[in-house]
Amino acid sequence: MNIQDEAILREFNLFPLWVRRDAPLPTNTVTVTIQVNAPTESFAVKSKVETLAIPTVIPGQQEVEPAPEYANIDAADWPALKQQVHDCTSCKLRATCTQTVFGVGDEKAEWMFVGEGPGADEDAQGEPFVGQAGKLLDNMLASIKLKRGNNVYIANVVKCRPPNNRTPEPEEVAQCWPYLQRQIALIKPKLIVALGKTAATALLGRDATLGSLRGTVHQYQGIPLIITYHPAYLLRSPVEKAKAWQDLCFAVNVLSAR
Ligand code: URA
Repeated sequence: MNIQDEAILREFNLFPLWVRRDAPLPTNTVTVTIQVNAPTESFAVKSKVETLAIPTVIPGQQEVEPAPEYANIDAADWPALKQQVHDCTSCKLRATCTQTVFGVGDEKAEWMFVGEGPGADEDAQGEPFVGQAGKLLDNMLASIKLKRGNNVYIANVVKCRPPNNRTPEPEEVAQCWPYLQRQIALIKPKLIVALGKTAATALLGRDATLGSLRGTVHQYQGIPLIITYHPAYLLRSPVEKAKAWQDLCFAVNVLSAR
């Protein structure tokens, strides 16, 4: 392991790395060169194509029957929007979750991170990313000198926990989409980071492999949009954490160039 790899692992609280003495050598190890002030070209390292289960929802093109919850949503301020989400029964997720999970953080943040949907811990506590994936997200934020709640807002595509943490269905994403849209409109972040495939698909309005979306500055309504792996995926595939850190460094560069 070289010094750069060790630095990455330290930033993500992953060092020292314990490896079973009799374990076979990993076959999917990647070597990346991290250069915090690197130009975009240095992100040409291609990641392997993922085959995570994904919804193919295109929010803007979904036929969504307007529900009463969306009344005047374009004019909703924070309290009105929070109330609308709290009262929402537009899809079947509300019947099985404990509570809605609105979002958390600095309502004037420059940085906005968007995940998929609440898991068991978030469902119990009413706050996004408070479980294991949340701990990793906090470390990811710390690796670029950010802190939850301080110039950072964290939200999810869907506000209710899907049963057994399954991927939200396209209809569920479409029903919840106006809430995320309004959160973004109120925050007006300078940069959005989509965490994983569900957030990337919803914000881009199109479906593509996550690997093919990394290392590019996309746009959501004129706001730069960077796409990286979901922390839960990184917990399952720690070898990809270096790429996520690369994406975060890329995001820092994009924001500081604005
Ligand atoms: N995964 C998500 O996408 N969001 C959360 O809030 C927690 C886990």
